[in-house]
This record gives sequence, C-alpha cells and structure tokens, in this order.
Amino acid sequence: MSNGVSVKAKLLGRKREITERILPEEEALDAEEYIETVEDIMKEVETETTIDRQTTLDACNEWFVKDSQPLFKNSHLKYLQYAFKLQFPANLTALDASQPWMLYWIANSFKVLQPEELTEEFQRKIVQKLFTISPQGGPFGGGVGQLPHIAGSYASINALSLCNNIDNCWDKINRKAIYNWLLKLKQPDGGFKTCLEVGENDTRGIYCALSIASMLNIITPELCEGVLDYLINCQTYEGGFGGCPQEDEGHGGYTFCAVASLMILNKLDSVDVEALMRWCSSRQCNEEKGFNGRANKLVDGCYSFWVGSTAAMLEASGKGLCVSKNALHEYICQCCQTEQDGGLRDKPGKYADFYHTNYVLLGLAISESEYTLQTKQENTSAVLIESKSNTKLDYALSNLQEINPIYGVPIADLTKFVAHFNTHL
Ligand SMILES: [Zn+2]
Repeated sequence: MSNGVSVKAKLLGRKREITERILPEEEALDAEEYIETVEDIMKEVETETTIDRQTTLDACNEWFVKDSQPLFKNSHLKYLQYAFKLQFPANLTALDASQPWMLYWIANSFKVLQPEELTEEFQRKIVQKLFTISPQGGPFGGGVGQLPHIAGSYASINALSLCNNIDNCWDKINRKAIYNWLLKLKQPDGGFKTCLEVGENDTRGIYCALSIASMLNIITPELCEGVLDYLINCQTYEGGFGGCPQEDEGHGGYTFCAVASLMILNKLDSVDVEALMRWCSSRQCNEEKGFNGRANKLVDGCYSFWVGSTAAMLEASGKGLCVSKNALHEYICQCCQTEQDGGLRDKPGKYADFYHTNYVLLGLAISESEYTLQTKQENTSAVLIESKSNTKLDYALSNLQEINPIYGVPIADLTKFVAHFNTHL
C-alpha cells in the first residue's frame, strides 16, 4: 500500500494512463454534433463495462418504444402454477439448499398477484414440505437432512405466514427452539452466523434473525445486543451499506438487510439518512429507469425490491421519496416481462425465474403504493406499515396486494400472522 495511485489503478482495473478531455461548450454545438462528439469520446474510453451497459441500454430501448404494457397477470400465474404441478428440471438441483426460498418466492408471487390462487392444496404442500425439513417445527434447513440455516428459517417463516394457519400449522412452529438457536448464532460483534456449525456473519444474518424474531414475537434486548453498532459501522462513505463493518462498497441487498433491521429496531435515525437517500437515488439508472445494486453495475429487476423497498422504508419513516416510482414501473412493465413467456426477469434477454418473479412483483407493488408507518402496537414486535394506492402514478394500477416492505410479504398475511403470536415468548 505504498503508492496510492497504483492501489487505485488496481481497484479500477485500469491498464492505461488517465487522460482528460474537455468537452466543447454545449451551446457551441448543435444537438447532433454534440451527440457525435460524446460518442467519439466514449469510443476512445470504451471498456467491457461500458460495452455491457450500452448493450443493456439498447435492449431496454427496444422495449421502451413499444406501447406501454400492463402487467401480464395470467401469463405469470400460469408460470407459477407450473411450479406445483410438474417436476422441476434437473438443472434446478443447484437450488437444493434453497427449498424454503423456492416455496416463499412462489407462494408470495401468487399472493401478491392474486391471493386466492395460493389454494389450500398448495398451502398444504408448502406446510408438508417445511415440516418434513424440520419435523420439530424449526429452525429450518435448506432441505431434508440439511443443517438449520438462518436464511432457510427466514424463508420458511415467511412461507408459513402465507398459509393462513391451515391445519393449525402456525401452532407447530417451535418458537422456543428457534429463539434458543438464534441466541447461539449470536456473535460477540453483534452479528449472527448464518449456521451454527459453519457459516458467515454479515447483515443478511442480522436481518433474517430480526425478521424471524419480530414476526414470531420472540425479540429480546439480549438478542438485539450490539446489533445497532454493527449496522452503523456497515454504512459506507457512499451512503449504502456493505455486508460487514468497515467493508468497502454499498450493495443493494446488504443495504436492504441493514435498513430493514434498523426499522425493526426503530433506529433508522442512528445512521446518515441523507447519504442513504442519495445512494438510493443513484441506484436508479436514468435511461434504463430500473435500479442497479452497486455503482457502475447493470440494471436488474430484483433491485426493484432490494433498493425500492429501502426507498419505501425511508418514505414510510417520513423522510420523503428518493426514487422515481413512475420510472421503476415503466422498467418493470416494459423490460421485465413478455406476454408469451410467463414469469418476470432481471432484464431483456434473460429468462424468468422464481426469484426474480417474486422480487420484481414486490417492486411493482412498491411503485404502485405510498407508505406510512403504523403506530406501534403493544401486542406485537413486528413493525407494521400502512400502504395506499400511489396517486402520483402515471400508469393504471395492477391491483396487486399491498405489501410490507420490511418483510416482503402482503400486509394482510403479515397482520394475521403476527396477531396469532400476540403473546411474547
Ligand atoms: Zn437480479
């Protein structure tokens, strides 16, 4: 680290001298000349990153010129129904340790799109699967015979919250075992390991722990000890949050986890909110209209939730709106779906998958809503948020279920679930 310049060059992957070009005064050129000049200069400084970005932008622009598209609900419902009716193809074995996630993504997409489509038959399948993974009622692993994992447990609790207490499944959740296990995952620095035996420690662990504990009403000061300091130290100079304290770069996923955790702790004001809002705004790409997850990365539909939800939590907390919901709506409806192929996707040219279907739908629900915090209720440790239709939207509403941006599930399901656990353990 003796030479600052070489370190910087290494980080940026720069292989040539930095050159500076002063653009002629804008007024002196007409529009066409101006564009040509900029294009010439861009050619000279072309890198893999700028080429990828241009390719993405060209692909998006092909969709933006088309008439504005509604959400193709029926195509997406058909795509989701396939999940419960057919065997998955062999390549999905890569998701063997993410079975509760698949259940949450699919069930939640149904619920957000059209709640009655998650039929009792589908609910029973979900419950049966989760209690086969953990017959003792939690904590849950990623599949049968796998170690309990904090992410698998988070996804399981979210999936169960969508099942309307069918066959009294909510009473089978072992809150005591889950609480004791969460305490064991707790680390001296305030974070949580994702898994007792192995596993990393970053803001994802904290969010999963606090989300589970607040939904099940098992949150305690002991569980939350040191969490706030951990989170404060994860905010980077950019305003977003890295995964671990003093980490280098703000990231959409880690930022969502940190901000949702701060909301659960009611400590949003302990971090630099102004910088966070600036960072969120900068994640929205001017031309592509959707969000990226980090500076200089490509637009991606799933950040409609990770970043969109962060903006929604800030909005609910009375900090104002730092993103354009109209632009986000346009990106999602024009670029993240087609009528022929159901499911939602990252960007044009990519295939739909269950993960993107869920998070893009949640992002669309956020773009169509306005949020305010609900007054804290005595009998729950969950943070409830009120949502109403976005009156400033330029597009027709898709009539999606209103969602809680902290937990990523419909408000109706969350309210019912937390009311069931109205006595603190
Ligand atoms: Zn994505």
